[in-house]
Amino acid sequence: MKIYDISLPLTERLPVWPGEPKPQLSRISSIEDGADANVSELRVGTHAGTHLDAPLHLRMDGQPVDAIPLDTLIGDAWVCRLPGSVTTVTAEALEAAGIPGDTTRLLIATANEQLWNQPDWSYSEDYVALNDDAARWIAARGMVLVGIDYISIETSSSSGMRVHHMLDEAGVVPVEGLDLRGVAEGRYRLVCLPLKLPGADGAPVRAVLIEE
Ligand SMILES: [Zn+2]
Repeated sequence: MKIYDISLPLTERLPVWPGEPKPQLSRISSIEDGADANVSELRVGTHAGTHLDAPLHLRMDGQPVDAIPLDTLIGDAWVCRLPGSVTTVTAEALEAAGIPGDTTRLLIATANEQLWNQPDWSYSEDYVALNDDAARWIAARGMVLVGIDYISIETSSSSGMRVHHMLDEAGVVPVEGLDLRGVAEGRYRLVCLPLKLPGADGAPVRAVLIEE
């Protein structure tokens, strides 16, 4: 059994959506200063790094992150690798990707992964993400979860969070900020668990793929 960690490290280095805070871990009690134990405080946005969007992200009557069923977040997933020439994920690109018909959790590896090889992770608005057609394509297939390898599933030029809304209406949970470098196309078991934060609109996750 091989386990792939597909989560980004939750550090100040992460790109965050303009206006959102950078994660901060600060030591509030330190053995070096005579304390009995090291204790830190973590300040983090609910959409920092590898995270999932709860329906409450988009609408006031949407489910918070702690209400998303665990059987959505754990189970079979298909990793598809789109060619580097794909700059927007379209229905056409998904159709051409040979995604098995029984896929309910889809993780999309794109040219975004090159960004994680750069020393500078500052936010780039030029990332690969889904257009409306791709969201419709996924919505029509009865999927429960879709993941992508940059901090939004939707292009920066899209307005009104249309892609997010289309996925939400179809009951598809987006996982954003995956690190799929080194993961080959194929079927895995996904475990993607958010912090149990009652009432939160999203939460960082530790996501892993298990190859059995
Ligand atoms: Zn998000």
